[in-house]
Amino acid sequence: MSLLTVRGRGNGGVAASPRRPRPRWLVPLTLAFAAAVIAPRIAPVRRALDTVVRCSSGHLYTTLWFPPGSFKAIRFGRSRFQRCPVGHHWAVVRRVDQSGLSPDELAEAHEHHDLLLI
Ligand SMILES: [Zn+2]
Repeated sequence: MSLLTVRGRGNGGVAASPRRPRPRWLVPLTLAFAAAVIAPRIAPVRRALDTVVRCSSGHLYTTLWFPPGSFKAIRFGRSRFQRCPVGHHWAVVRRVDQSGLSPDELAEAHEHHDLLLI
């Protein structure tokens, strides 16, 4: 007699169905997603990760650029494929050297931000 059978007797003699084991990757993935949602709302973290980027159509905006990974973009080396909040389209995005931008371009970039999600 297995342990599950013995436990099942407590509910009128009906054998309990065996519980499926939780996948091992579920807890780390859940914690990583929770951190990706919570961390950007902490001001110093947001300031550290906020990066000016330009999409393939030339739009400037800021995004959270976290080198190890992202839940909102597909990475291709130094580029990413993600949603552009300015043109409302999907595009390849690259980081921009802010020293090469005019004050107007920099102000324009900081007017637009994509999702607050790493
Ligand atoms: Zn764009």
